[in-house]
Amino acid sequence: SFIIHWFRRDLRVSDNSSLLAASHKGEKVVPLYVASDWKKAHAWTGPGRQQFLCECLESLAGNLAKLGGRLIIRSGDPVEAIVRLLDEGSVSEVHYNRDPDPHGRKDELRLAEICEARGVACVGHDDVALHTFDQTTKDDGTAYRVYTPYSKRWLKLEKRKPASTPKQLATPDQIASDPLPTLENWQLNLPSHLDLLSGSEAAARSRLKDAIAKRLPSYAQNRDHPSVPATSRLSQDLRWGTISIRKAYAEAHKAHEEARDPDVRASYHTFIKELAWRDFYLHLLEAYPEVLQHEFNADYRGLPWAEPDEKFEAWKEGHTGFPIVDAGMRELRTTGFMHNRVRMIVAMFLTKDLHLDWRLGEQHFAQHLLDGEIASNNGGWQWSAGTGADAAPYFRIQNPWTQSKRFDAKGEYIKKWVPELDAVPAKALHEAPDLVSGHGKSYPQPIVNHAQERDKTLSIFKKHLDTV
Ligand code: FAD
Repeated sequence: SFIIHWFRRDLRVSDNSSLLAASHKGEKVVPLYVASDWKKAHAWTGPGRQQFLCECLESLAGNLAKLGGRLIIRSGDPVEAIVRLLDEGSVSEVHYNRDPDPHGRKDELRLAEICEARGVACVGHDDVALHTFDQTTKDDGTAYRVYTPYSKRWLKLEKRKPASTPKQLATPDQIASDPLPTLENWQLNLPSHLDLLSGSEAAARSRLKDAIAKRLPSYAQNRDHPSVPATSRLSQDLRWGTISIRKAYAEAHKAHEEARDPDVRASYHTFIKELAWRDFYLHLLEAYPEVLQHEFNADYRGLPWAEPDEKFEAWKEGHTGFPIVDAGMRELRTTGFMHNRVRMIVAMFLTKDLHLDWRLGEQHFAQHLLDGEIASNNGGWQWSAGTGADAAPYFRIQNPWTQSKRFDAKGEYIKKWVPELDAVPAKALHEAPDLVSGHGKSYPQPIVNHAQERDKTLSIFKKHLDTV
């Protein structure tokens, strides 16, 4: 008989809770990945992300081969694919790392029922977050709704150390595999302008090393400045699991303990608190899966969002006439990444200046971000829209001009992504009317007047709240 380890968002051999447990049983292991049936235009993913996924799978196959194993690829519905494997041979156990997202959990429940009926052990492992939901509830067992008290509890808890890599894995010869997925299989083209990070465990390890040594020492001072490489760039690796959250934490913690300079020490601590945001949003999604449909704060359900029109297209393409917004949207289109500060600016712009539903932005991000992650993306969008957990009150609306002056004073980030503004003096990049009146070659006029749209938002929210 053999054991299945079902790979999901844990595409690595190192410190993988479920894979390690499966490998300890002394039986052959089927390391399985079930690729979804791609539909050419997909609401929640896009070619850049799929390309990153393909690279992660290719590297995973290589890493498993080094241990003596063979990655088994199947496609379609994951539970049905596992059931077909149960039919193909004598499976004694199925292992997987638990998913906090409601779609993944539904699959787990279906699988558990089928396994139980067939007398096959089905074992879920805690792996995706640093702390489980049960460890981080309030004293009365209910879920937190606000980050600060959550993070206080989170910071106090002892963290699990990274575990080892299985020494050896043998996969039964008779189990057939589909070829590794490629974009061609899915009839997808990678737009030629894309410039993506590469996906593999080795790339993730090297990004972590680089982050700890070079980027994070000034994290506390510089993490809000998009032109400074002061954030880790680990998000896509944490999303797809090419590095474990325990490894990222352990390295940051070690650097924190060893740092002499108090500013550097503080930076590692600030970074660790950011990892707590990731856990917080996973925790919220587990506790309140309805956030995927509704506003987290029930008072804001039913807000009258505008119909998407050409302004939505301008936002997606980075042609709004707001340089900081356009720079962010173009960074996203080209790299599948956007700096966190700029994510907040473009999200507030969509919801507060264009009055468009945050769900439109959430979906656009999911299609383009390599790190597109259901919990953090929803959390970030609802936070920015003012409808989410711990969000700024609706009347605190960021001004994109002021934001760009504060966080990209010299315009370095803007000019990198909006080259037609190259000749514009930095100061003018943060002052709408002057900017467009001559300096920028073929750069659009601002599509809205921020001050007017701000007033409109205030009145929409206020009117809505008067009715609840
Ligand atoms: P660092 O600053 O180095 O942070 C380290 C890690 O901590 C990140 O890799 C990430 O895993 C986690 N983290 C940091 N900030 C946050 C945060 N605010 N919320 C949750 N986790 C955080 N992050 C995603 O991983 N996937 C998403 O789909 C996503 N969508 C977002 C949408 C909006 C509208 C906003 C405002 C934020 C979103 N974020 C998302 C959070 C954040 O922008 C990214 O995690 C961060 O920019 C990634 O860059 P980094 O790895 O260099 O981050």
